[in-house]
Order: sequence, then structure tokens, then C-alpha cells
Amino acid sequence: MNEKTWLARSAAFFAGDSEPMAEAGAVAVIGLGRFGGSLALELAKHGVDVIGIDNDEAVVAEYADRLAFATRADATDEVVLRQLGIDEVSRVVIAIGSDLEASILAASRILKIGCQHIWAKAISETHGEILHQLGIKNVIRPENDMGRRLAHLIRGHISDFLPIDDDFVLARTTPPVRVADVPLASLGVRATYGVTIVAVKRAGSRQWDIADRDMTLYADDEILIAGHPREVERFSELDKDTDN
Ligand code: ATP
Repeated sequence: MNEKTWLARSAAFFAGDSEPMAEAGAVAVIGLGRFGGSLALELAKHGVDVIGIDNDEAVVAEYADRLAFATRADATDEVVLRQLGIDEVSRVVIAIGSDLEASILAASRILKIGCQHIWAKAISETHGEILHQLGIKNVIRPENDMGRRLAHLIRGHISDFLPIDDDFVLARTTPPVRVADVPLASLGVRATYGVTIVAVKRAGSRQWDIADRDMTLYADDEILIAGHPREVERFSELDKDTDN
């Protein structure tokens, strides 16, 4: 897509405000490093028009054929951002990490321009705090989030782990022996263990079914549970004593 098409598209794309980012059309990704680059390619793979911006010519060249539009620009320069049409953009990802000054400046410029939906990567707690204080609501800490997730996976009882918030996660695990073979209604899982069983995948099936009270879980099922990370962890480890 050339610049003209992108500009022609931008008003329509960026007009919406309540839809999830990837469903709304194009997304501007600023900083095509490892994180920004793989995010941009993943979005592009799913049919999203991605506008990639980086101040390194060689990086831009690498993405030129793979994104809807890629351009070399300094994201800390408000005039340049406006020339690029970022003032019409309501969905932006700032994926500049190690250059703290550039990240903060770009964030403040984009906020000033008036973009409503901004995701910004932080590489430290302080960096994240500064971005929050500036007014960025969605601060991502990829290394941290991945580290937390991996810690749960490596410990073995959870096969997938998705932190939704500090106090709420989704985890994929197997039913502990003490909740298997009896209808869920008779167990009071939420009251006893503080977690909710959200969905069940039967052994050999490819399909997840929403859990309901009349269901009975079996040891070879997979389940998706939701709750506070501490309770989710505790629940997924109920068989630990019997494992050893
Ligand atoms: P990675 O995602 O690779 O871990 P990182 O966290 O180290 O990256 P940086 O290297 O700071 O982040 O930045 C990622 C990308 O952002 C780089 O390709 C860099 O060229 C680009 N970048 C840095 N400053 C700016 C800027 N002012 N304007 C546009 N792009 C920038």
C-alpha cells in the first residue's frame, strides 16, 4: 500500500473506538525492533493493515514488503507524526524500549496529538510508571509477562497461563483428582477453591465446551480455570501431594 492509500484509509480505520485493536483495521506500530517487528508481522499475518514506523532506514527496508506501509520517521517529532497522519490514528503501539527518552517523548507527542488507544512497551517498572503517569493506559511489559507465564509453565501443573490483570488469570490445566468423576454442581468449586472452571476439553476432542453445573470432569480432560493467580496455582497443584 502506498502512502496515498494509507492516508485514504486512515480516517475510516481509525474512526472506531470501542472495538479491539486488531478488529478495527490498521494499526500503527512505532519501533520495529524484536517486539514491535514481530507484533507488526503477526498482525499483518492476520490481515491487519499495519503502518510500521522506525527511524532506522535498514529496519524499515526489512519490513517494507511485509507491511501495508513502512516508513522511516522519528517518532519523537510531532510535526513528522502529524505529516504521517497519526493525528487521525486512534490505535498506536509504541514499541520503543531501550531508548527511554525516545519512548517517553513519542508517548507524550502521540498523547498530545490526541490518539485515544495507545499501547506502549516498557522495559522496567520505572519506565512503566512514567508511561502510566503520562496517561498511557495500556503499558506492556513483554519480558515480565512472558517470565511470569513461563514460570507457571515450567513448574508443570499448568500448560498455559494468561495474566489478565495482577489479580486475575486464566490457566489451562487438568482436573485434580478430588474434583473428577462427580458433577460440578455437587463440588462447590468456586466456594471451596476460589476459582471458576470456565471451559472443558474432553480427551481426544478438538473442541472446548463452556463448563456448566451438570458437567462431570474426568482426569484426562483439560480445563480452563479463572481466578486470582494464588488460587489458580493452588487449585492446579491439588494433586501435588499424591504425585510424589
Ligand atoms: P526490542 O523490541 O528489539 O527488544 P528494544 O526494547 O531494545 O527493542 P529499542 O531498540 O529501543 O527497543 O527500539 C526498537 C526500535 O525502535 C528500533 O528498531 C529503533 O530503531 C526504533 N526507534 C528507536 N527510537 C525511535 C524513534 N525516535 N523513532 C522511531 N523509531 C525509533
